[in-house]
Order: sequence, then structure tokens, then C-alpha cells
Amino acid sequence: PAVTSEVISRSDWNRVAIVLEELRRKCDTPADELLCVLIDGMVEEMKAGLAVEGGSKDYKMILTYVDKLPSGKERGHFYALDLGGTNFRVLRVHFGGKESQMKDQEYQEVSIPAELMLGQHEELFDFIAGKLAEFVSKETDAYHPLPGRKRELGFTFSFPIKQTSIDAGTLIKWTKGFAVEGTAGKDVVQALNEAMEKRGLDMVVTALVNDTVGTLAVASLATQKQDDEVMISVILGTGTNACYVESIDAIPKWEGPKPSSGKMIISMEWGGFSSSFLPRTQYDEALDAASVNPGEQIYEKLLSGMYLGDVVRRVLLRLAEEAALFGPTVPSKLLVPFILGTPHVSAMHQDESSDLQVVGKILGNVLGIDETSLELRKLVVDICSIVAKRAARLAGAGIVGILKKIGRDGTKQDSSATQNKRTVVAMDGGLYEHYPWFRAELKAAVAELLGSEVAKNVVIELSKDGSGIGAALLAAAHSRYGLFPFK
Ligand code: BGC
Ligand code: MG
Repeated sequence: PAVTSEVISRSDWNRVAIVLEELRRKCDTPADELLCVLIDGMVEEMKAGLAVEGGSKDYKMILTYVDKLPSGKERGHFYALDLGGTNFRVLRVHFGGKESQMKDQEYQEVSIPAELMLGQHEELFDFIAGKLAEFVSKETDAYHPLPGRKRELGFTFSFPIKQTSIDAGTLIKWTKGFAVEGTAGKDVVQALNEAMEKRGLDMVVTALVNDTVGTLAVASLATQKQDDEVMISVILGTGTNACYVESIDAIPKWEGPKPSSGKMIISMEWGGFSSSFLPRTQYDEALDAASVNPGEQIYEKLLSGMYLGDVVRRVLLRLAEEAALFGPTVPSKLLVPFILGTPHVSAMHQDESSDLQVVGKILGNVLGIDETSLELRKLVVDICSIVAKRAARLAGAGIVGILKKIGRDGTKQDSSATQNKRTVVAMDGGLYEHYPWFRAELKAAVAELLGSEVAKNVVIELSKDGSGIGAALLAAAHSRYGLFPFK
């Protein structure tokens, strides 16, 4: 049935206005009263997580065992496997040595069948090893290992792990809708090595990395770098996380020998931030309760790509139920979790046509709501904007939290060189890449929080596709066979 604003009564529009106002108020993120408080809380949690293992219930502050960024001299033929969302990627790459110049790179993307994301541990790893074996079978001679050697693989595994060396780590918990049974507590490198062996695949994992770490590695090579400029990397995609370069002296829980660099990359797992000051609404609470990991990844659920669309859907659903926004019956598709994705939110929000055609099309095609009035389409844009703005500003606050922790937020009292040092923040992930409004809002929040003088020295830039190549680079840096593994 056609739906227009004419059939929405005055009292229903009043109800809409009230719900919208409440949403706006609860999603509000004023810098002084709220974001600054959150940032202080973040810095405290970071310190607690670095002090002792499990010292922060929010931030795992994972020791990555990466204490040097790539030198640029890496060379040889390597593989990588990038697992972190509903697709995984297998790639092979040849580094030529000079600035780790990439001679060639090939990759293949495979989508993970939904049932495997909720299935058994072995099935998932067998599936992955199978696809990897298929990919390897198409390699050129240059990638064949010399006798007595194996192919080497960088494994990007973008879930919280407790890492125990550069090539070992156990899964703490799944995120992003994965709920595979039997993996938690297991060494994921061992799991992959075993699955590869079962396939008769002559390959071994030599580096286990988070996607943030791979991104940082590639960004630091790509930026015509000054030392300690590329300090932070952030993923804003299906899930979210950040890693940064920490001084080893600031990591009391590190028990190993002091690395010569004096540094270690820390993967924060910042999606776990759960301060009670986070601006949450009833929609967020319902989303969390219905998720496969209730009570976990609270910050991630407020700002990553997997969830934004569903928050918007939940607001629309309430309006349909309480204010008959789409007519006397609630459109059935509005009841389907995750039917509205963040790409839809982004497209609707940035609809530049005067009559909001894109919004109309998406409401029709995705939610089965045809013939909407302009007033209603404007309301939908408003809702997208409120939810996306909160997400972007919270992400911006997260970045400022890290800058503050490492003394690059301009408040450090010494007059040392760090004062005016450039800090590069390497960004990746679909939410950041494909949503220009979100990107601009995030940068504006960072500038607002730092003040424009300090913000001038903070360069937030897109660094695409580093997660897989970065793992290959780190596999090269940690090769068992030195720098010239293959012919
Ligand atoms: C995971 C992180 C990952 C991030 C971005 C989160 O859900 O816990 O390990 O880095 O998503 O992919
Ligand atoms: Mg990824």
C-alpha cells in the first residue's frame, strides 16, 4: 500500500518529533562535557591494560611482538591470508628489496558461507585451507619453495587474540558476528598450520598480525617517512580497532628482553571500551542484547560498519510501531535484523538530489516501503545523520585518546621535539573509505578536540589494503630463511 505523509496524523507526527528529539539528545557528543571525559577514561584504561595482563576489562592492549616497522629491505616471495570479516583474502606478493618494492601481487577474495561463521572450528579452518590450496596451485615457479623449505605466510587474523610470539596466539573471543564453536582458547596459527598440513600444503605461518598492524606496517613504508611519524592505525570497517607504537618502558606487563627499538606495537582492541559515559540509547541496548556477543564490544557496536545500519533500522521500527510512520501496519522487512546496511545509510545520508530519490529507492528496494513523502525521506536522512555523527565523533575521540597517551595531543609540558612533530594516523576500512561525510565529521571532531594548532600536525589519511600486504611484509621480516628465501 502506498504510504504518504498525508495519512500520518498530526498526533503521530508529534510522536515522531518527540522520538527524534530524544534520539538527538541521547546521541549528543559535546566535546567539553562528554568527549573529554571519555578520552580521560580511555587513557586510564590504556594504562591499566599495559600495567598487567587483564588489567583493563575494556582494552586488551595486546602485545603484538612487532617491535620494528618494515625496513624497506624485505625481499622474496610470500603469501598472506587476511581473515577478519565475511570475506577473506588470499594473496601472494613478491617484494623486490628496495623500499620493499612490490614486484607483483595477486589476490583472490572468498566469501565465507554464513553457516561456517556460526559453525565448528575445524570446518572453518578446513574451508580456508582448501581455498588457500586452490590459490597456491596457480602460482608461478618463482613461488615454489626450494628443497627443504616451505612457503611462508603472513596470517592477518582480525579478532582479539592473546599473542605469545610473532607466530602464535590464542583467540580470546570472536567479534563481528562470528560465533564459531571450539576456537576460543586455541592457537589460531596452529589451527591453520594443521589444516594446511591436512591438505598437503607446503606452507607455514611466520607472522600472525591484526589488520591494524598490517595497515600500520604498509603505511609506514608508503609515507616518505620521518622516523616515528606513522604512529597509529585505525580500522573502521565491519569492526573497529586501533594499534599504535608504544614505548617499551610504558609497558610494565612486557616480560621479554627489551627490543633494540625500545618500542612495541600495541593492538588495543578498542572496540571493547565500555565506559558508562558512552552515549547509548534503547536501540543500542536492544541491538546488543540481540547480538551473538551481548555485553561485549560496546564501543564497536556504537561506531562500526556492521552495526550503524541496524541502529537506524531500530529507530525506524520504533517509529513505525509507535507513530504509524509507514501506515497502519509495520512493514515486515523492518523487522529483519541487519537488513539495512551501513552502505545504505551512507547512500541515503549523502543523497544530494532535491527530492531525495536515493532515499526513496532504498526505502523501496530494501525495506519494501514505496511512495514515501519528501517529509518522511527527510526524517530518514536526519536519523542517519544523528547516528553517523555520534559514531564519527566517538571514533575521533578514540584517536585523540591515543594521541594523549603518547604525548602527541599538544598538552605535553616539555618543549622537546615531539611538540611539533607530525603524527600520521593511517586509516582503513569500508566505513572510513566509502562514507565521505563520516570521514569529514571524524576529522572535524579531532580538530575540535585538539585545537587547530595541534591538529595541523596530525595527518589522518586513508591507507588502503594494508592488512594483507602488511602481513606478507611482516612474514618476510620474520622469515625463517633470512631475506632471500626463494630463488
Ligand atoms: C576485532 C579487531 C579488528 C577490528 C577491525 C574487531 O572486531 O576485534 O581485532 O582489528 O574488528 O577489523
Ligand atoms: Mg579487512
